[in-house]
Amino acid sequence: MSNNGQRAAVAGSAAGRVPGRRTFAIISHPDAGKTTLTEKFLLYSGAIKTAGAVKSRKQERVRSDWMELERQRGISITSAVLGLDYRGRRLNLLDTPGHADFSEDTYRTLYAVDSALMVLDAARGIESRTLKLFEVCREQSIPIITFVNKLDRPALEPLELLDQIESSLGLKPVPVTWPVGDAGDFRGVVDRRDGTLVRYNRTAHGAAVGSEETVPLSEVGEAEELLEELALLEAVGSGAGEDFDRESFLAGDLTPVFFGSALANFGVRLLLDSFVELAPAPVPRRDAAGRIRDLDEPFSGFVFKVQANMDPKHRDRIAFVRVCSGRFERGMRLVCERTGRVVATRHAQQLFADDRETVEEAYPGDVVGLVNTQGLNVGDTLFAEGATASPFPRIPDFVPEHFALARNGDSGKHKQFWKGLGQLSEEGVVTVLRRPEDGGQEPILGAVGPLQFQVAEHRMEHEFGAPLRLRSAPWTEALRLTSEKEALRLSEVRGTRIVRDGRGRPLALFEDRYWLRQALEKLGKEGG
Ligand code: GDP
Repeated sequence: MSNNGQRAAVAGSAAGRVPGRRTFAIISHPDAGKTTLTEKFLLYSGAIKTAGAVKSRKQERVRSDWMELERQRGISITSAVLGLDYRGRRLNLLDTPGHADFSEDTYRTLYAVDSALMVLDAARGIESRTLKLFEVCREQSIPIITFVNKLDRPALEPLELLDQIESSLGLKPVPVTWPVGDAGDFRGVVDRRDGTLVRYNRTAHGAAVGSEETVPLSEVGEAEELLEELALLEAVGSGAGEDFDRESFLAGDLTPVFFGSALANFGVRLLLDSFVELAPAPVPRRDAAGRIRDLDEPFSGFVFKVQANMDPKHRDRIAFVRVCSGRFERGMRLVCERTGRVVATRHAQQLFADDRETVEEAYPGDVVGLVNTQGLNVGDTLFAEGATASPFPRIPDFVPEHFALARNGDSGKHKQFWKGLGQLSEEGVVTVLRRPEDGGQEPILGAVGPLQFQVAEHRMEHEFGAPLRLRSAPWTEALRLTSEKEALRLSEVRGTRIVRDGRGRPLALFEDRYWLRQALEKLGKEGG
């Protein structure tokens, strides 16, 4: 690949390498077009020659027998982070699994990015999953750039979409481009920054880079109507120029909005060009004590995802580390802050487009995959040996959304059963919840995505030799309780079951949203 030369280049200071890096994730509801857009990024960056590959791989993925599941895990590993070079910038796109493989990893990944690209389906606007992912971004004030996709089809009115962004997310939308043409007859976008119209010509299913033609607005037939629309935008306070306040954007209060169609390659180049300009480069991160760790300080990073390969022939376990400061060099000795143990980095890997290859060095904003690091868990901070060891903030545990009752399928494998569950729970595959009254027999498993149960079953059997028997559980909602007092208050309430997670913290489970709302009311909390 063409970036070999760059990677072999002499080491510079970490801070010197950072300005060209953009580490981000795409947040969207399933089917909004994340995969298609990712593929178009590969196309426009020259990493692939024709589009269509991601799509077909995904169709294969839908078949779900065991072989497929294993393969799928293989695919998720190779796509945990995509490295792309575009116009002199290094883009690190972190994967946020979205369909059946949606899991806690999807949320955790958002702790390792510097910005997010929010993709909306123009006909659907803000959807439930978008909202949840957005909330995780908001918590950390991650800057968000919005792409309204599928403009080639009938869509909601652009103003209605802006209104949804503002009212559902509390984010001020600033349209940088504006769609031209009627619903279903999309002809291009006006770039409001310089008043030009970018006209698009359809290529065969958007397989190749789209051909675009840029013309001044004054030369456009339908200019008058357009100008009126644009004037209206200014009037409602959505000006592209003076209203675009970079500070508010970086604080996560304002989002620049782009329109287009990933499938038809409409507006993709404009999005990408603007994205590399707008999205922030990695900035120094604060540790848990609030101290800023400069980019040039010795190596530090944290594990945001751990993935165990289910293929018994390659039982490697990869810990994905986001580099926060300093220079990573393959073979260097790192120390895990939590355990004090030295971590070998001889088998570090980085991922470029589709290839998994050995990484020699990495800088803040990059992601390094450390292979066969049994002792590393999500949230662990790593330091260069000898450097100060102050951890980065904890990645929070997310509340499970799916539940199942778990039994040991082989009474002779008691030890393996609990060891396996302990390991899966540490990795965050499933959360193991205990009821005081279960006599230590039938724990409840909680997961953020339902596929995690299949992963747990498979790994328990093949990796720990303890078959897991799952049966359905009645709960559909969970609430993390903040104190024992809250647990006590809810313990006698109908429709509520109090359980404890691996660290003994209480959660309340409900069979219905109704009971959750009742509980929130009883605790004097809003929402539900
Ligand atoms: P993901 O679930 O967000 O990754 O969505 P995909 O990229 O897999 O897209 C879901 C479906 O929407 C697929 O059938 C795509 O071909 C289709 N799609 C994606 N982008 C566009 C677009 O711009 N226009 C139209 N008409 N369809 C699109």
